[in-house]
Amino acid sequence: MSKLVQGYEVVIGFETHAQLSTKSKIFSRASVAFGAEPNTQACAVDMALPGTLPVMNIGAVERAIEFGLAINAHIAERSIFARKNYFYPDLPKGYQISQFEIPVVQGGEVSFFLEEGKETVRKTVRLERAHLEEDAGKSLHEDFIGQSGIDLNRAGTPLLEIVTQPDMRSSDEAVAYAKELHKIVTWIGICDGNMQEGSFRCDANVSVRKPGDELGTRREIKNLNSFKFMQQAIDYEVRWQIDQNEDGHAIQQATVLFDPDTGETRAMRTKEDAADYRYFPDPDLPPLVIGRDWVERVKSDMAELPRVMAE
Ligand code: ADP
Ligand code: MG
Repeated sequence: MSKLVQGYEVVIGFETHAQLSTKSKIFSRASVAFGAEPNTQACAVDMALPGTLPVMNIGAVERAIEFGLAINAHIAERSIFARKNYFYPDLPKGYQISQFEIPVVQGGEVSFFLEEGKETVRKTVRLERAHLEEDAGKSLHEDFIGQSGIDLNRAGTPLLEIVTQPDMRSSDEAVAYAKELHKIVTWIGICDGNMQEGSFRCDANVSVRKPGDELGTRREIKNLNSFKFMQQAIDYEVRWQIDQNEDGHAIQQATVLFDPDTGETRAMRTKEDAADYRYFPDPDLPPLVIGRDWVERVKSDMAELPRVMAE
């Protein structure tokens, strides 16, 4: 399990979407229960009817605070919601409400143990941020011949997007991180962790470089919803990138999908940059203000963490 693969160092950073375990949506009263008939859980706000306005779900904020405390992060006293603009049929507003420049959870870290040969080593992955956002709806391409359906039940589902620094150096490390993060969010009860239903899904950013070089160009493997596929997808991607390098082809930044049937990753689209989304503060929502007293109250109600108990 040496760090180098054919003379290359592997670099991985994760973005994880954890669906928060609230009963209702992040900015509306509609239910988030899984498996309902299409469009029966989409209210006027989720459908983006004119004149509707978002109202923050306090339960989603509380869960973000709990997460921040669990990973020893800074909880911002004032964070900002931003509009992330893009067109998609299942996004009727034409933008997703997210957080951009000032997220609610900043920094923090996740530590875990990993077997390396005969040794057990402790690894720490630094987190960059965790921010609150709403999920989009779903396009249904398989239910109708020659047509696509739109299901807005998922629109407005509360998510916490958890972003790491590019700190992982192997697929084993990446999977161990994802398992530890899964353990944390389910232990503190902010997410049910159901990966089949998409409540916990990971995007793996992968690049390779020769030791000592600058970071290589990354490709982002989207929506990994099982630990087994996660490992397979990263291992395939690393081999593919090394082969490209060895053949003298530069890696293009891209978003790719893993196909479990072929065991391969396939480019889905060239990657957008933040500038493409024209982020700006959402004028419909005031800044999210979290006083120290609120943080203290949440802290005193939380169960003891596994790492604290272990120590
Ligand atoms: P974006 O918002 O465009 O997805 P970020 O810069 O926020 O981009 O990074 C997203 C994720 O990609 C983070 O987890 C980060 O650690 C990881 N990452 C950034 N650069 C690299 C790289 N060269 N190789 C691997 N992972 C990377
Ligand atoms: Mg990203």
